[in-house]
Amino acid sequence: MINAWFQQPLITDIFVMLGVVLLNQLLLRGIMNFTINAGQKIDYSVGILNVVSVGYFAVLAIYFQYLGYDLQSDVALVNFRILILIYTMIYLGRRGSAVVVLADCASRAAFYGLTLNTYESWTTEVTVWLIMALIATIAKRIHLHLLTLVMVINCVGGGFWLLAYFLQLRRVAPLSGEAALGHFVSFIILNGLLAYVLRALDNENNHLSAITYEATYDPLTRLQNYGMFDKHYEELFKRYHLRNAPLSMIAIDIDWFKSLNDQYGHLAGNQVLATIGRLLDKETAVYPAATCYRVGGEEFNILLPGVALIDAGNFARHLQEEIAATVIRVDDQPLAITVSVGVAQLSLADATASDFYERTDRMLYQSKGKGRNQITVDTGEQ
Ligand code: GH3
Ligand code: MG
Ligand code: MG
Repeated sequence: MINAWFQQPLITDIFVMLGVVLLNQLLLRGIMNFTINAGQKIDYSVGILNVVSVGYFAVLAIYFQYLGYDLQSDVALVNFRILILIYTMIYLGRRGSAVVVLADCASRAAFYGLTLNTYESWTTEVTVWLIMALIATIAKRIHLHLLTLVMVINCVGGGFWLLAYFLQLRRVAPLSGEAALGHFVSFIILNGLLAYVLRALDNENNHLSAITYEATYDPLTRLQNYGMFDKHYEELFKRYHLRNAPLSMIAIDIDWFKSLNDQYGHLAGNQVLATIGRLLDKETAVYPAATCYRVGGEEFNILLPGVALIDAGNFARHLQEEIAATVIRVDDQPLAITVSVGVAQLSLADATASDFYERTDRMLYQSKGKGRNQITVDTGEQ
């Protein structure tokens, strides 16, 4: 019995549990990449991430009920399901976990019908939920240490198996003392591992947010904003000027944007900005050290550390072609967008950061003067 318990349920539980937690994390990160929250800290307790997580664990609860029903025994999953219940309480809040419990209880009734077995299972679940709600509230108030919380949760698991043994709960009966102990040990191992993994993910989450927290993004184009440009630009200018190392800048301004706004509306204009922002961001990824910023209404700037003028000019030409080839549909009408571009490389003659910036800007305005949809590279001859 011990042997069977150790090989089958525990090992399977461990991998299922890790898979469940990591998949949830990946799902949330994916969602965040598609919203303006990209790069920020995952907050499970509010908003869309909370809704998605609650849905995710509710669907899982139903699936596990089905699995237990299909296997004609849910003993192997009991530990894991108690743990899901407990940790959804901690991470998703009381309301979130109540939804998960509700889904679980309803699906139990759906699969097994309203039998004594079902009532017993409902009672267990609601009891565990109530106990955990109490513990979670106390833990929050007195800032319980993680290890203490893990111990307390172990006691809940111990209590469950003790009761299951003495009351011979129908759903897990017949239960020998040895088997009950085995399940309890299994619970402790799963609980410790889960706490460890969740802690590790939380740490990574904090770490991630620490790195990117200071970066502020423009919500429309999802590029870093002019504040970030100023900050990085000052830094890069100092470093690259001192070392006389190549640093190039590409200034991009959308042509006739005001009349596009006037003709198709502000929202169409926003759609164009978002599309071009995405395109620039994607293309700039070719240079890992480079960053693209939205520095004004329809103005963008790319800083290319370590890239010399010839390469920057070619890259700018490529960008211009890509933008010209992008057809943006507004009200089913295709819009063709062009941009004017200025390119320059940092030189020792640039006494201040503004000198280099203004030189690049002059190149851009030469492009405008030449009739727009042009590139001017600062070869020093003009
Ligand atoms: P040029 O070819 O000389 O660059 O002409 P332009 O019309 O593109 O330039 P101008 O600077 O005269 O106009 C820029 C316009 O961009 C004016 C402003 O209404 C619009 N704009 C600025 N920010 C936004 C925005 O966030 N959304 C939209 N839709 N329009 C914006
Ligand atoms: Mg402009
Ligand atoms: Mg413009």
